[in-house]
Amino acid sequence: MIRDLFINFCLLSTFLFFGDMARNMLQARFALKPKLLNQLSGIVLGFFGVLQMLFTFELPNGILLDFRQLSIMAAAFIGGPWIALLASVVMGAGRLLIAGGLTPESLFGLAAIMLMYLVTLPAFLVKGSFERKWFFTTLGATVLVCVLLLYGLGTSDIPLVLALSMIQAAGCVFTYLMLRYLRMTREMQEALKREIEHDFLTGLYNSRGFETRYRLAAASNSPFALLLIDIDHFKQVNDTYGHPAGDAVLKQLGKIIRNSVRKTGYASRKGGEEFAVILPCDAKQAVDFAENLRGQIEQSPFLLPDGRIINVTISVGIGLSSRFSETELFEQTDRALYRAKQEGRNRGIMAV
Ligand code: GH3
Ligand code: MG
Ligand code: MG
Repeated sequence: MIRDLFINFCLLSTFLFFGDMARNMLQARFALKPKLLNQLSGIVLGFFGVLQMLFTFELPNGILLDFRQLSIMAAAFIGGPWIALLASVVMGAGRLLIAGGLTPESLFGLAAIMLMYLVTLPAFLVKGSFERKWFFTTLGATVLVCVLLLYGLGTSDIPLVLALSMIQAAGCVFTYLMLRYLRMTREMQEALKREIEHDFLTGLYNSRGFETRYRLAAASNSPFALLLIDIDHFKQVNDTYGHPAGDAVLKQLGKIIRNSVRKTGYASRKGGEEFAVILPCDAKQAVDFAENLRGQIEQSPFLLPDGRIINVTISVGIGLSSRFSETELFEQTDRALYRAKQEGRNRGIMAV
């Protein structure tokens, strides 16, 4: 019996691991909405609960004993009460199919599934962490299993009832550890992916993020403009007001650039006080954008940490993908930026 329950639990662990992997792959590949992914998870967990019933331990009176309740709990914690209900309905239908219709045992199984669902509900009313919610559901599920066993087996074998309830509680704890590990790993992966491509000071893409977007834009064959932006005399800001003041300026400037680009293009901080923008547009729009941005920055008050306000200006090199090859475009735009510096700064120059 213990062996059967152990196999049942191993099935659940394996399923949670590969299920999580499949979910991540689906999300990455097809960009499915979280709601749809949750619904899919609920249905699949429901089917998995049915599979658990096939690898079950049957008590002398026909009651099936397995860890299907853990699948309902997992569904509840993945997607909330509706997803848990979805999993429970699939499981209930499966239980009827296994029994070949309405029998006293299948009705008992159905009741157990619905009671288990009800036990998960209070967890959604408890405010607080995942740990807290799981603890209350574990408590409820263990008491429920204990009561169901007492109802099914009577009081003739109390040690067995207690042992099975303990195994149930242990199953809850292991499932919790597994879900927590999977969630932590996913969050870490997502954070790492974000960090790797973003500049921590401004939140814009960093040099690596820029390279990827630049290559994608060049490969897309749609015309775009490259703008290389450099703050004028930024060293003086650092020398006069200190490095933290320089950082505050970089942060505010990053915000202005991000707001100008909005969703139409990509803004990045290439390093130091140099920024790059990739914008799908034609020559006139590129010049207008650069001039707008330049004017906006010239007019903006930059607030320093000590409360003082300063002004800064930028120089911009503008390049068009329609005029140059991928490597030439960057070089020529950089040259245009250099010319903007040479010709007095606070201006934009188009690469020709
Ligand atoms: P130009 O108008 O020719 O661009 O002059 P500039 O002073 O802006 O250029 P320069 O290349 O001489 O100096 C860039 C300065 O940017 C030097 C460095 O201290 C500063 N800097 C680079 N990265 C950071 C940063 O992350 N934070 C701060 N506060 N300063 C930075
Ligand atoms: Mg520079
Ligand atoms: Mg500079």
